[in-house]
Amino acid sequence: MTGTGTQAAVTFRGVGASPGMVLGSAYTLDRARVSAPMRHLSGGPTEVQAEKARLKSAVALATEQLDRLHRRFDPRSDQALILETHLLMLKDPMFLGEALRLIEQEAINAEWVVCRLVARFKSAFTDMENDYFRERYADIEYIGERVLRNLLGYRDDLELDGDDIPSGSVVVARDLSPADVAVLLRKSGVEGIVTDMGAKTSHVAILARARGLPCVVGAANLSNAVHRGDLIALDGQQGSVTLHPSPEDIERFQEQRHRYLAFGQSLNALKELPACSEDGVRVQLMGNTEHIDHLSSLLDHGAEGIGLFRTELLFLDRQELPDEEEHFEIYRAAIEALDGRPATFRTLDLGSDKMPSASAALTEREPNPALGLRGLRYCLRHRDVFIPQLKALLRAACHGPMRILFPMISSIDELIVGKECIAEARAQLEAEGKPFCADIPVGAMIETPAAAWSADKLARACDFFSIGTNDLIQYVLAFDRQNHQVAHLYQPMHVAVVRALEFVVQSAHAAGIPVAVCGEMAGDPLYTFLLLGIGFDELSMVGAQIPLVKRLIRAARAQEARDFLDQVKGCDSVEQCELLVQEEMARRFGKWLDY
Ligand code: PEP
Ligand code: MG
Repeated sequence: MTGTGTQAAVTFRGVGASPGMVLGSAYTLDRARVSAPMRHLSGGPTEVQAEKARLKSAVALATEQLDRLHRRFDPRSDQALILETHLLMLKDPMFLGEALRLIEQEAINAEWVVCRLVARFKSAFTDMENDYFRERYADIEYIGERVLRNLLGYRDDLELDGDDIPSGSVVVARDLSPADVAVLLRKSGVEGIVTDMGAKTSHVAILARARGLPCVVGAANLSNAVHRGDLIALDGQQGSVTLHPSPEDIERFQEQRHRYLAFGQSLNALKELPACSEDGVRVQLMGNTEHIDHLSSLLDHGAEGIGLFRTELLFLDRQELPDEEEHFEIYRAAIEALDGRPATFRTLDLGSDKMPSASAALTEREPNPALGLRGLRYCLRHRDVFIPQLKALLRAACHGPMRILFPMISSIDELIVGKECIAEARAQLEAEGKPFCADIPVGAMIETPAAAWSADKLARACDFFSIGTNDLIQYVLAFDRQNHQVAHLYQPMHVAVVRALEFVVQSAHAAGIPVAVCGEMAGDPLYTFLLLGIGFDELSMVGAQIPLVKRLIRAARAQEARDFLDQVKGCDSVEQCELLVQEEMARRFGKWLDY
Protein backbone atom coordinates (compact mmCIF):
# COMPACT_ATOMS: atom_id res chain seq x y z
CA MET A 1 0.00 0.00 0.00
CA THR A 2 1.30 3.49 -0.76
CA GLY A 3 0.74 6.59 1.33
CA THR A 4 -0.39 10.08 0.34
CA GLY A 5 3.10 11.30 -0.36
CA THR A 6 6.36 9.48 -0.34
CA GLN A 7 5.59 7.52 2.77
CA ALA A 8 3.96 4.11 2.76
CA ALA A 9 0.74 3.61 4.61
CA VAL A 10 1.07 1.45 7.72
CA THR A 11 -1.81 0.05 9.73
CA PHE A 12 -1.44 -0.55 13.45
CA ARG A 13 -3.85 -2.83 15.27
CA GLY A 14 -4.84 -2.06 18.84
CA VAL A 15 -7.92 -2.33 21.02
CA GLY A 16 -11.03 -0.39 20.05
CA ALA A 17 -11.56 1.50 23.31
CA SER A 18 -14.20 4.00 22.23
CA PRO A 19 -16.10 3.86 18.91
CA GLY A 20 -16.07 6.50 16.17
CA MET A 21 -13.96 7.22 13.08
CA VAL A 22 -11.70 10.19 12.58
CA LEU A 23 -9.25 11.26 9.89
CA GLY A 24 -6.97 13.88 11.35
CA SER A 25 -3.44 15.01 11.89
CA ALA A 26 -1.31 13.49 14.58
CA TYR A 27 -0.60 15.61 17.64
CA THR A 28 2.23 13.76 19.32
CA LEU A 29 2.71 14.16 23.03
CA ASP A 30 6.09 13.25 24.32
CA ARG A 31 5.42 11.43 27.50
CA ALA A 32 8.87 9.92 27.70
CA ARG A 33 9.56 8.62 31.15
CA VAL A 34 11.93 10.72 33.23
CA SER A 35 14.81 8.92 34.88
CA ALA A 36 17.48 9.75 37.39
CA PRO A 37 20.75 8.06 38.39
CA MET A 38 21.52 6.89 41.90
CA ARG A 39 23.67 9.19 43.99
CA HIS A 40 25.15 8.46 47.42
CA LEU A 41 24.86 11.25 49.95
CA SER A 42 28.38 11.64 51.22
CA GLY A 43 27.85 14.89 53.14
CA GLY A 44 26.70 13.22 56.36
CA PRO A 45 23.53 13.98 58.38
CA THR A 46 23.21 17.54 57.08
CA GLU A 47 22.97 16.37 53.47
CA VAL A 48 20.55 13.59 54.44
CA GLN A 49 18.30 16.13 56.20
CA ALA A 50 18.45 18.45 53.17
CA GLU A 51 17.55 15.55 50.85
CA LYS A 52 14.55 14.65 53.01
CA ALA A 53 13.40 18.28 52.92
CA ARG A 54 13.79 18.28 49.11
CA LEU A 55 11.57 15.22 48.82
CA LYS A 56 8.95 16.70 51.14
CA SER A 57 8.72 19.85 49.07
CA ALA A 58 8.51 17.88 45.78
CA VAL A 59 5.59 15.89 47.22
CA ALA A 60 3.96 19.08 48.52
CA LEU A 61 4.34 20.66 45.07
CA ALA A 62 2.81 17.61 43.38
CA THR A 63 -0.13 17.80 45.78
CA GLU A 64 -0.56 21.47 44.98
CA GLN A 65 -0.41 20.84 41.20
CA LEU A 66 -3.00 18.07 41.32
CA ASP A 67 -5.18 20.05 43.75
CA ARG A 68 -5.16 22.93 41.29
CA LEU A 69 -6.15 20.67 38.42
CA HIS A 70 -8.80 18.97 40.54
CA ARG A 71 -10.51 22.28 41.28
CA ARG A 72 -11.14 22.77 37.55
CA PHE A 73 -13.47 19.76 37.33
CA ASP A 74 -16.98 19.06 38.49
CA PRO A 75 -16.41 17.24 41.81
CA ARG A 76 -18.61 14.36 40.64
CA SER A 77 -16.85 13.87 37.30
CA ASP A 78 -14.66 10.87 36.49
CA GLN A 79 -11.70 13.19 36.14
CA ALA A 80 -12.19 14.57 39.65
CA LEU A 81 -12.47 11.07 41.12
CA ILE A 82 -9.27 9.92 39.43
CA LEU A 83 -7.38 12.97 40.62
CA GLU A 84 -8.71 12.39 44.14
CA THR A 85 -7.25 8.87 44.04
CA HIS A 86 -3.88 10.35 43.09
CA LEU A 87 -4.10 12.93 45.83
CA LEU A 88 -4.92 10.22 48.37
CA MET A 89 -1.91 8.20 47.24
CA LEU A 90 0.34 11.25 47.50
CA LYS A 91 -0.93 12.02 50.98
CA ASP A 92 -0.62 8.41 52.12
CA PRO A 93 1.90 8.55 55.00
CA MET A 94 3.13 5.08 53.99
CA PHE A 95 4.53 6.43 50.72
CA LEU A 96 6.31 9.49 52.08
CA GLY A 97 7.24 7.76 55.35
CA GLU A 98 8.88 4.83 53.56
CA ALA A 99 10.72 7.16 51.16
CA LEU A 100 12.10 9.27 54.01
CA ARG A 101 13.15 6.14 55.87
CA LEU A 102 15.10 4.88 52.83
CA ILE A 103 16.91 8.21 52.41
CA GLU A 104 17.84 8.17 56.09
CA GLN A 105 18.91 4.53 56.25
CA GLU A 106 20.73 4.19 52.96
CA ALA A 107 21.89 7.78 52.41
CA ILE A 108 20.76 7.83 48.77
CA ASN A 109 19.14 10.56 46.69
CA ALA A 110 15.39 11.21 46.72
CA GLU A 111 14.93 10.52 42.96
CA TRP A 112 16.36 7.04 43.29
CA VAL A 113 14.23 6.27 46.33
CA VAL A 114 11.06 7.25 44.46
CA CYS A 115 11.99 5.03 41.48
CA ARG A 116 12.65 2.12 43.84
CA LEU A 117 9.29 2.46 45.59
CA VAL A 118 7.43 2.58 42.28
CA ALA A 119 9.30 -0.50 41.01
CA ARG A 120 8.36 -2.35 44.19
CA PHE A 121 4.66 -1.88 43.40
CA LYS A 122 5.17 -2.77 39.76
CA SER A 123 5.71 -6.50 40.18
CA ALA A 124 2.81 -6.79 42.63
CA PHE A 125 0.39 -5.11 40.23
CA THR A 126 1.52 -6.33 36.84
CA ASP A 127 1.20 -9.97 37.95
CA MET A 128 -2.50 -9.53 38.54
CA GLU A 129 -4.91 -11.42 36.27
CA ASN A 130 -7.52 -8.72 36.31
CA ASP A 131 -7.04 -5.94 33.76
CA TYR A 132 -8.68 -3.38 36.02
CA PHE A 133 -6.24 -3.86 38.88
CA ARG A 134 -3.26 -4.27 36.56
CA GLU A 135 -4.09 -0.90 35.07
CA ARG A 136 -4.21 0.68 38.53
CA TYR A 137 -0.41 0.32 38.63
CA ALA A 138 -0.47 3.19 36.13
CA ASP A 139 -1.75 5.42 38.94
CA ILE A 140 1.21 4.64 41.17
CA GLU A 141 3.64 5.04 38.29
CA TYR A 142 2.08 8.38 37.51
CA ILE A 143 2.39 9.64 41.09
CA GLY A 144 6.05 8.60 41.15
CA GLU A 145 6.69 10.37 37.86
CA ARG A 146 5.04 13.56 39.05
CA VAL A 147 7.21 13.71 42.17
CA LEU A 148 10.28 12.88 40.08
CA ARG A 149 9.61 15.71 37.61
CA ASN A 150 9.35 18.13 40.51
CA LEU A 151 12.59 16.87 42.06
CA LEU A 152 14.35 17.35 38.72
CA GLY A 153 12.85 20.82 38.24
CA TYR A 154 10.89 20.07 35.04
CA ARG A 155 8.26 22.52 33.81
CA ASP A 156 4.77 21.74 35.14
CA ASP A 157 3.47 19.67 32.23
CA LEU A 158 -0.03 19.75 33.62
CA GLU A 159 -0.01 23.25 32.20
CA LEU A 160 -0.63 21.56 28.87
CA ASP A 161 -3.60 23.83 29.27
CA GLY A 162 -1.49 26.62 27.87
CA ASP A 163 -0.80 24.72 24.64
CA ASP A 164 -3.15 25.10 21.72
CA ILE A 165 -4.15 21.90 20.02
CA PRO A 166 -5.27 22.55 16.42
CA SER A 167 -8.72 21.33 15.51
CA GLY A 168 -8.89 17.93 13.85
CA SER A 169 -6.06 16.53 15.99
CA VAL A 170 -5.61 12.92 16.93
CA VAL A 171 -3.46 12.82 20.05
CA VAL A 172 -0.78 10.13 19.83
CA ALA A 173 1.26 9.13 22.87
CA ARG A 174 3.08 6.15 24.23
CA ASP A 175 0.89 6.33 27.30
CA LEU A 176 -1.22 9.01 28.91
CA SER A 177 -1.67 9.62 32.59
CA PRO A 178 -5.25 10.12 33.78
CA ALA A 179 -4.33 13.74 34.52
CA ASP A 180 -3.15 14.18 30.89
CA VAL A 181 -6.44 12.76 29.65
CA ALA A 182 -8.39 14.98 32.01
CA VAL A 183 -6.67 18.03 30.52
CA LEU A 184 -6.92 16.80 26.92
CA LEU A 185 -10.64 16.18 27.15
CA ARG A 186 -11.16 19.86 27.91
CA LYS A 187 -9.57 20.87 24.62
CA SER A 188 -11.80 21.41 21.65
CA GLY A 189 -9.21 20.48 19.01
CA VAL A 190 -8.87 16.87 20.18
CA GLU A 191 -10.95 14.54 18.02
CA GLY A 192 -9.37 11.22 18.84
CA ILE A 193 -6.77 9.56 21.03
CA VAL A 194 -4.34 6.69 20.37
CA THR A 195 -1.86 5.20 22.80
CA ASP A 196 0.75 2.46 22.44
CA MET A 197 -0.12 1.10 25.87
CA GLY A 198 -3.32 0.32 27.73
CA ALA A 199 -6.30 -2.00 27.73
CA LYS A 200 -10.07 -1.58 27.57
CA THR A 201 -10.14 -0.84 31.28
CA SER A 202 -7.37 1.81 31.29
CA HIS A 203 -8.41 5.23 32.48
CA VAL A 204 -7.81 6.69 29.04
CA ALA A 205 -10.33 4.19 27.63
CA ILE A 206 -12.88 4.76 30.38
CA LEU A 207 -12.70 8.55 30.07
CA ALA A 208 -12.80 8.58 26.26
CA ARG A 209 -15.84 6.26 26.22
CA ALA A 210 -17.66 8.37 28.76
CA ARG A 211 -17.03 11.43 26.55
CA GLY A 212 -17.81 9.66 23.25
CA LEU A 213 -14.32 10.45 21.87
CA PRO A 214 -12.95 7.85 19.40
CA CYS A 215 -10.01 6.07 21.00
CA VAL A 216 -7.67 3.15 20.31
CA VAL A 217 -5.34 1.83 23.01
CA GLY A 218 -2.59 -0.77 22.85
CA ALA A 219 -1.48 0.23 19.31
CA ALA A 220 2.05 -0.97 20.11
CA ASN A 221 4.95 1.11 18.71
CA LEU A 222 2.74 3.59 16.91
CA SER A 223 4.15 6.61 18.75
CA ASN A 224 7.69 5.76 17.55
CA ALA A 225 6.54 5.85 13.93
CA VAL A 226 4.55 9.10 14.01
CA HIS A 227 5.56 12.74 13.69
CA ARG A 228 3.47 15.73 14.61
CA GLY A 229 1.23 16.65 11.67
CA ASP A 230 1.25 13.21 10.00
CA LEU A 231 -2.08 12.17 8.51
CA ILE A 232 -3.75 9.44 10.51
CA ALA A 233 -7.03 7.50 10.21
CA LEU A 234 -8.42 6.11 13.44
CA ASP A 235 -11.25 3.59 13.75
CA GLY A 236 -12.25 3.30 17.41
CA GLN A 237 -14.68 0.47 16.73
CA GLN A 238 -12.27 -1.85 14.93
CA GLY A 239 -9.25 -0.75 16.98
CA SER A 240 -7.18 0.14 13.91
CA VAL A 241 -5.02 3.15 13.09
CA THR A 242 -3.60 3.84 9.63
CA LEU A 243 -0.63 6.14 9.38
CA HIS A 244 -0.01 7.97 6.04
CA PRO A 245 -3.16 6.52 4.43
CA SER A 246 -3.05 6.43 0.62
CA PRO A 247 -5.71 8.31 -1.43
CA GLU A 248 -7.54 4.98 -1.89
CA ASP A 249 -7.36 4.27 1.85
CA ILE A 250 -8.76 7.73 2.53
CA GLU A 251 -11.61 7.26 0.08
CA ARG A 252 -12.55 3.91 1.61
CA PHE A 253 -12.25 5.30 5.12
CA GLN A 254 -14.42 8.32 4.32
CA GLU A 255 -17.09 6.15 2.71
CA GLN A 256 -17.19 3.93 5.74
CA ARG A 257 -17.22 6.93 8.06
CA HIS A 258 -20.06 8.42 6.09
CA ARG A 259 -22.07 5.20 6.44
CA TYR A 260 -21.25 5.09 10.14
CA LEU A 261 -22.44 8.67 10.70
CA ALA A 262 -25.55 8.29 8.56
CA PHE A 263 -26.42 5.10 10.40
CA GLY A 264 -25.92 6.86 13.76
CA GLN A 265 -28.19 9.68 12.62
CA SER A 266 -30.90 7.32 11.45
CA LEU A 267 -30.79 5.65 14.84
CA ASN A 268 -30.95 9.00 16.63
CA ALA A 269 -34.21 9.67 14.87
CA LEU A 270 -35.67 6.81 16.94
CA LYS A 271 -34.75 8.45 20.22
CA GLU A 272 -38.25 9.45 21.26
CA LEU A 273 -39.92 6.32 19.85
CA PRO A 274 -40.66 3.25 21.98
CA ALA A 275 -38.94 -0.10 21.52
CA CYS A 276 -42.09 -1.79 20.29
CA SER A 277 -42.12 -4.74 17.88
CA GLU A 278 -44.18 -4.66 14.68
CA ASP A 279 -46.81 -6.80 16.39
CA GLY A 280 -47.06 -4.54 19.42
CA VAL A 281 -44.79 -6.08 22.08
CA ARG A 282 -43.19 -3.33 24.15
CA VAL A 283 -39.71 -3.75 25.69
CA GLN A 284 -38.29 -1.15 28.10
CA LEU A 285 -34.73 -0.16 27.16
CA MET A 286 -32.78 0.98 30.17
CA GLY A 287 -29.21 2.07 30.81
CA ASN A 288 -26.41 0.49 32.84
CA THR A 289 -24.20 2.91 34.68
CA GLU A 290 -21.78 3.21 37.52
CA HIS A 291 -21.45 6.95 37.57
CA ILE A 292 -23.79 9.90 37.80
CA ASP A 293 -21.65 11.67 35.21
CA HIS A 294 -22.84 9.30 32.49
CA LEU A 295 -26.55 9.88 32.98
CA SER A 296 -27.01 12.63 30.42
CA SER A 297 -25.33 10.47 27.78
CA LEU A 298 -27.62 7.55 28.71
CA LEU A 299 -30.68 9.78 28.30
CA ASP A 300 -29.32 11.15 25.02
CA HIS A 301 -29.21 7.60 23.71
CA GLY A 302 -32.86 7.15 24.65
CA ALA A 303 -32.59 5.23 27.95
CA GLU A 304 -35.95 5.05 29.69
CA GLY A 305 -34.31 4.95 33.09
CA ILE A 306 -31.47 3.15 34.85
CA GLY A 307 -31.81 -0.63 34.77
CA LEU A 308 -28.57 -1.24 36.65
CA PHE A 309 -26.60 1.20 38.78
CA ARG A 310 -23.50 -0.69 39.88
CA THR A 311 -23.07 1.22 43.13
CA GLU A 312 -19.88 -0.54 44.23
CA LEU A 313 -17.86 0.71 41.26
CA LEU A 314 -18.06 4.26 42.61
CA PHE A 315 -15.84 3.36 45.51
CA LEU A 316 -13.30 0.79 44.40
CA ASP A 317 -10.48 3.31 43.98
CA ARG A 318 -10.95 4.75 47.41
CA GLN A 319 -9.54 4.08 50.81
CA GLU A 320 -12.90 3.96 52.57
CA LEU A 321 -16.48 3.15 51.76
CA PRO A 322 -18.83 6.11 51.92
CA ASP A 323 -21.06 6.88 54.87
CA GLU A 324 -24.85 7.14 54.66
CA GLU A 325 -24.76 10.84 53.75
CA GLU A 326 -22.41 10.37 50.79
CA HIS A 327 -24.46 7.44 49.51
CA PHE A 328 -27.60 9.53 49.87
CA GLU A 329 -26.23 12.53 47.96
CA ILE A 330 -25.21 10.35 45.01
CA TYR A 331 -28.51 8.49 44.79
CA ARG A 332 -30.56 11.63 45.18
CA ALA A 333 -28.57 13.38 42.44
CA ALA A 334 -29.06 10.39 40.12
CA ILE A 335 -32.79 10.25 40.78
CA GLU A 336 -33.18 13.98 40.22
CA ALA A 337 -31.20 13.81 36.95
CA LEU A 338 -33.61 11.13 35.71
CA ASP A 339 -36.52 13.50 36.12
CA GLY A 340 -39.24 10.97 36.89
CA ARG A 341 -37.75 7.99 35.05
CA PRO A 342 -37.09 4.96 37.27
CA ALA A 343 -33.67 4.14 38.73
CA THR A 344 -32.63 0.63 39.74
CA PHE A 345 -29.85 0.65 42.33
CA ARG A 346 -28.01 -2.59 42.84
CA THR A 347 -26.77 -2.81 46.42
CA LEU A 348 -23.00 -3.13 46.85
CA ASP A 349 -21.75 -6.12 44.85
CA LEU A 350 -18.46 -6.35 46.72
CA GLY A 351 -16.25 -9.39 46.83
CA SER A 352 -14.68 -11.51 44.10
CA ASP A 353 -12.69 -9.04 41.97
CA LYS A 354 -14.47 -5.98 43.32
CA MET A 355 -12.98 -4.64 46.55
CA PRO A 356 -12.16 -1.09 47.61
CA SER A 357 -8.38 -0.73 47.87
CA ALA A 358 -8.38 -0.34 51.65
CA SER A 359 -10.71 -3.27 52.36
CA ALA A 360 -8.88 -5.46 49.84
CA ALA A 361 -5.77 -5.24 51.98
CA LEU A 362 -7.75 -6.18 55.09
CA THR A 363 -9.89 -8.90 53.54
CA GLU A 364 -8.90 -12.49 53.92
CA ARG A 365 -7.76 -13.90 50.58
CA GLU A 366 -10.31 -16.43 49.45
CA PRO A 367 -9.16 -19.53 47.60
CA ASN A 368 -11.99 -19.15 45.08
CA PRO A 369 -13.35 -15.60 45.25
CA ALA A 370 -15.97 -16.01 42.50
CA LEU A 371 -17.60 -18.63 44.72
CA GLY A 372 -16.84 -16.76 47.90
CA LEU A 373 -18.20 -13.98 50.04
CA ARG A 374 -19.57 -11.64 47.37
CA GLY A 375 -22.69 -9.63 46.56
CA LEU A 376 -25.51 -10.00 49.04
CA ARG A 377 -23.52 -12.64 50.93
CA TYR A 378 -20.88 -10.01 51.70
CA CYS A 379 -23.44 -7.39 52.71
CA LEU A 380 -25.29 -9.75 55.02
CA ARG A 381 -21.98 -10.48 56.77
CA HIS A 382 -20.99 -6.78 56.92
CA ARG A 383 -24.14 -5.04 58.13
CA ASP A 384 -22.10 -1.94 59.07
CA VAL A 385 -21.49 -1.53 55.32
CA PHE A 386 -24.96 -2.59 54.18
CA ILE A 387 -27.38 -0.77 56.49
CA PRO A 388 -26.03 2.76 55.76
CA GLN A 389 -26.47 2.11 52.04
CA LEU A 390 -30.03 0.86 52.54
CA LYS A 391 -30.88 3.87 54.72
CA ALA A 392 -29.54 6.20 52.04
CA LEU A 393 -31.58 4.43 49.35
CA LEU A 394 -34.80 4.65 51.40
CA ARG A 395 -34.19 8.36 51.93
CA ALA A 396 -33.34 9.01 48.28
CA ALA A 397 -36.58 7.31 47.25
CA CYS A 398 -38.47 10.42 48.46
CA HIS A 399 -37.04 12.20 45.40
CA GLY A 400 -38.36 9.99 42.60
CA PRO A 401 -39.15 6.44 41.47
CA MET A 402 -36.54 3.85 42.30
CA ARG A 403 -36.03 0.14 42.90
CA ILE A 404 -33.56 -1.83 45.02
CA LEU A 405 -31.83 -4.82 43.46
CA PHE A 406 -29.92 -7.48 45.45
CA PRO A 407 -26.96 -9.11 43.64
CA MET A 408 -25.76 -12.72 43.83
CA ILE A 409 -28.79 -14.32 45.41
CA SER A 410 -28.59 -18.06 45.80
CA SER A 411 -31.65 -18.80 47.93
CA ILE A 412 -34.97 -17.40 48.98
CA ASP A 413 -33.63 -17.37 52.56
CA GLU A 414 -30.98 -14.78 51.60
CA LEU A 415 -33.62 -12.67 49.91
CA ILE A 416 -35.71 -12.76 53.09
CA VAL A 417 -32.75 -11.70 55.27
CA GLY A 418 -31.94 -8.93 52.77
CA LYS A 419 -35.49 -7.66 53.14
CA GLU A 420 -35.15 -7.85 56.94
CA CYS A 421 -32.14 -5.55 56.59
CA ILE A 422 -34.34 -3.08 54.70
CA ALA A 423 -36.81 -3.27 57.61
CA GLU A 424 -33.93 -2.61 60.03
CA ALA A 425 -32.80 0.41 57.96
CA ARG A 426 -36.37 1.69 58.00
CA ALA A 427 -36.62 1.29 61.81
CA GLN A 428 -33.38 3.22 62.29
CA LEU A 429 -34.59 6.06 60.06
CA GLU A 430 -37.87 6.21 61.96
CA ALA A 431 -36.00 6.42 65.26
CA GLU A 432 -33.77 9.17 63.84
CA GLY A 433 -36.77 11.07 62.48
CA LYS A 434 -35.37 11.22 58.92
CA PRO A 435 -37.86 11.28 56.04
CA PHE A 436 -37.89 8.18 53.83
CA CYS A 437 -40.09 6.25 51.47
CA ALA A 438 -41.08 2.80 52.70
CA ASP A 439 -42.72 1.47 49.59
CA ILE A 440 -39.88 0.56 47.24
CA PRO A 441 -39.90 -2.42 44.85
CA VAL A 442 -37.21 -4.95 45.79
CA GLY A 443 -35.77 -7.23 43.12
CA ALA A 444 -33.45 -10.21 42.89
CA MET A 445 -30.60 -10.53 40.43
CA ILE A 446 -30.66 -13.94 38.87
CA GLU A 447 -26.99 -14.78 38.58
CA THR A 448 -26.63 -18.26 40.02
CA PRO A 449 -28.07 -21.54 38.72
CA ALA A 450 -29.70 -21.92 42.16
CA ALA A 451 -31.59 -18.64 41.71
CA ALA A 452 -32.54 -19.49 38.13
CA TRP A 453 -33.95 -22.90 39.04
CA SER A 454 -35.82 -21.61 42.08
CA ALA A 455 -37.14 -18.60 40.17
CA ASP A 456 -40.76 -19.75 40.64
CA LYS A 457 -40.31 -19.57 44.44
CA LEU A 458 -38.21 -16.39 44.40
CA ALA A 459 -40.76 -14.65 42.19
CA ARG A 460 -43.32 -14.86 44.99
CA ALA A 461 -40.96 -13.12 47.41
CA CYS A 462 -39.87 -10.11 45.36
CA ASP A 463 -41.17 -7.46 42.98
CA PHE A 464 -38.99 -7.95 39.91
CA PHE A 465 -36.09 -9.95 38.48
CA SER A 466 -33.02 -8.79 36.64
CA ILE A 467 -30.82 -11.46 35.09
CA GLY A 468 -27.09 -10.81 35.35
CA THR A 469 -26.08 -12.92 32.38
CA ASN A 470 -22.36 -12.20 32.86
CA ASP A 471 -22.43 -14.12 36.12
CA LEU A 472 -25.25 -16.50 35.27
CA ILE A 473 -23.32 -17.79 32.24
CA GLN A 474 -20.12 -18.05 34.28
CA TYR A 475 -21.81 -20.14 36.96
CA VAL A 476 -23.97 -22.26 34.64
CA LEU A 477 -20.96 -23.16 32.50
CA ALA A 478 -18.57 -23.38 35.48
CA PHE A 479 -15.91 -21.07 34.08
CA ASP A 480 -14.20 -18.14 35.79
CA ARG A 481 -14.98 -14.93 33.94
CA GLN A 482 -11.66 -13.39 35.09
CA ASN A 483 -9.64 -16.21 33.60
CA HIS A 484 -8.70 -15.57 29.96
CA GLN A 485 -7.83 -19.25 29.46
CA VAL A 486 -11.51 -20.18 29.63
CA ALA A 487 -12.96 -17.00 28.10
CA HIS A 488 -14.27 -19.05 25.14
CA LEU A 489 -16.77 -20.65 27.53
CA TYR A 490 -18.79 -17.46 27.66
CA GLN A 491 -21.56 -19.08 25.59
CA PRO A 492 -24.89 -17.27 25.80
CA MET A 493 -26.30 -19.75 23.28
CA HIS A 494 -25.55 -22.83 25.36
CA VAL A 495 -28.83 -24.71 25.71
CA ALA A 496 -28.46 -24.70 29.50
CA VAL A 497 -28.34 -20.90 29.44
CA VAL A 498 -31.25 -20.53 27.03
CA ARG A 499 -33.37 -22.93 29.09
CA ALA A 500 -32.49 -21.05 32.31
CA LEU A 501 -33.47 -17.71 30.74
CA GLU A 502 -36.77 -19.12 29.54
CA PHE A 503 -37.61 -20.70 32.90
CA VAL A 504 -36.88 -17.43 34.75
CA VAL A 505 -39.13 -15.45 32.38
CA GLN A 506 -41.95 -18.00 32.65
CA SER A 507 -41.66 -18.02 36.47
CA ALA A 508 -41.67 -14.22 36.68
CA HIS A 509 -44.67 -13.89 34.43
CA ALA A 510 -46.60 -16.65 36.24
CA ALA A 511 -46.14 -14.60 39.43
CA GLY A 512 -47.01 -11.35 37.65
CA ILE A 513 -43.63 -9.63 38.04
CA PRO A 514 -41.45 -8.07 35.30
CA VAL A 515 -38.11 -9.50 34.29
CA ALA A 516 -35.05 -7.83 32.77
CA VAL A 517 -31.62 -8.75 31.46
CA CYS A 518 -28.87 -6.39 32.61
CA GLY A 519 -25.72 -8.36 31.66
CA GLU A 520 -23.72 -7.66 28.47
CA MET A 521 -25.97 -10.00 26.52
CA ALA A 522 -28.80 -7.43 26.72
CA GLY A 523 -26.82 -4.94 24.63
CA ASP A 524 -25.43 -7.42 22.11
CA PRO A 525 -27.52 -7.02 18.94
CA LEU A 526 -26.83 -10.63 18.01
CA TYR A 527 -29.19 -11.75 20.78
CA THR A 528 -31.91 -9.09 20.57
CA PHE A 529 -34.30 -11.18 18.48
CA LEU A 530 -33.92 -14.21 20.73
CA LEU A 531 -34.42 -12.17 23.93
CA LEU A 532 -37.59 -10.74 22.39
CA GLY A 533 -38.72 -14.32 21.70
CA ILE A 534 -38.01 -15.40 25.29
CA GLY A 535 -40.27 -12.57 26.41
CA PHE A 536 -38.18 -10.12 28.44
CA ASP A 537 -39.95 -6.98 29.62
CA GLU A 538 -36.78 -4.95 29.93
CA LEU A 539 -33.22 -4.91 28.57
CA SER A 540 -30.57 -2.80 30.28
CA MET A 541 -27.25 -1.93 28.60
CA VAL A 542 -24.58 0.75 28.05
CA GLY A 543 -26.10 3.81 26.38
CA ALA A 544 -24.31 3.43 23.05
CA GLN A 545 -26.08 0.10 22.35
CA ILE A 546 -29.62 1.33 22.99
CA PRO A 547 -30.37 2.86 19.55
CA LEU A 548 -29.34 -0.24 17.59
CA VAL A 549 -31.19 -2.64 19.89
CA LYS A 550 -34.27 -0.43 19.58
CA ARG A 551 -33.99 -0.43 15.79
CA LEU A 552 -33.92 -4.26 15.76
CA ILE A 553 -36.91 -4.62 18.09
CA ARG A 554 -38.95 -2.16 16.03
CA ALA A 555 -38.25 -4.18 12.89
CA ALA A 556 -39.11 -7.56 14.44
CA ARG A 557 -42.30 -9.50 15.08
CA ALA A 558 -42.42 -11.05 18.55
CA GLN A 559 -44.38 -14.08 17.31
CA GLU A 560 -41.64 -14.85 14.76
CA ALA A 561 -39.04 -14.41 17.50
CA ARG A 562 -40.89 -17.00 19.63
CA ASP A 563 -40.90 -19.45 16.70
CA PHE A 564 -37.20 -18.80 16.23
CA LEU A 565 -36.58 -19.60 19.91
CA ASP A 566 -38.07 -23.06 19.31
CA GLN A 567 -35.66 -23.60 16.42
CA VAL A 568 -32.70 -22.57 18.59
CA LYS A 569 -33.76 -24.94 21.36
CA GLY A 570 -33.89 -27.72 18.77
CA CYS A 571 -30.15 -27.42 18.04
CA ASP A 572 -27.87 -29.99 19.60
CA SER A 573 -24.54 -28.21 19.90
CA VAL A 574 -23.53 -24.72 20.96
CA GLU A 575 -21.82 -24.21 17.60
CA GLN A 576 -25.01 -25.12 15.74
CA CYS A 577 -27.01 -22.67 17.89
CA GLU A 578 -24.53 -19.85 17.36
CA LEU A 579 -24.45 -20.39 13.62
CA LEU A 580 -28.23 -20.46 13.42
CA VAL A 581 -28.50 -17.18 15.36
CA GLN A 582 -25.80 -15.49 13.26
CA GLU A 583 -27.41 -16.55 9.99
CA GLU A 584 -30.89 -15.54 11.09
CA MET A 585 -29.72 -12.14 12.29
CA ALA A 586 -27.77 -11.53 9.07
CA ARG A 587 -30.79 -12.56 6.98
CA ARG A 588 -33.28 -10.44 8.88
CA PHE A 589 -31.23 -7.44 9.98
CA GLY A 590 -27.96 -7.61 8.03
CA LYS A 591 -28.25 -4.10 6.69
CA TRP A 592 -28.31 -2.71 10.23
CA LEU A 593 -25.67 -4.91 11.73
CA ASP A 594 -22.89 -4.03 9.31
CA TYR A 595 -22.11 -0.33 9.09
C1 PEP B 1 -23.97 -9.61 35.49
O1 PEP B 1 -23.42 -10.46 36.21
O2 PEP B 1 -24.45 -9.87 34.37
C2 PEP B 1 -24.07 -8.22 35.95
C3 PEP B 1 -24.81 -7.34 35.32
O3 PEP B 1 -23.33 -7.87 37.04
P1 PEP B 1 -21.73 -7.62 37.00
O4 PEP B 1 -21.28 -7.69 35.58
O5 PEP B 1 -21.52 -6.30 37.64
O6 PEP B 1 -21.25 -8.77 37.84
MG1 MG C 1 -22.98 -9.94 38.28
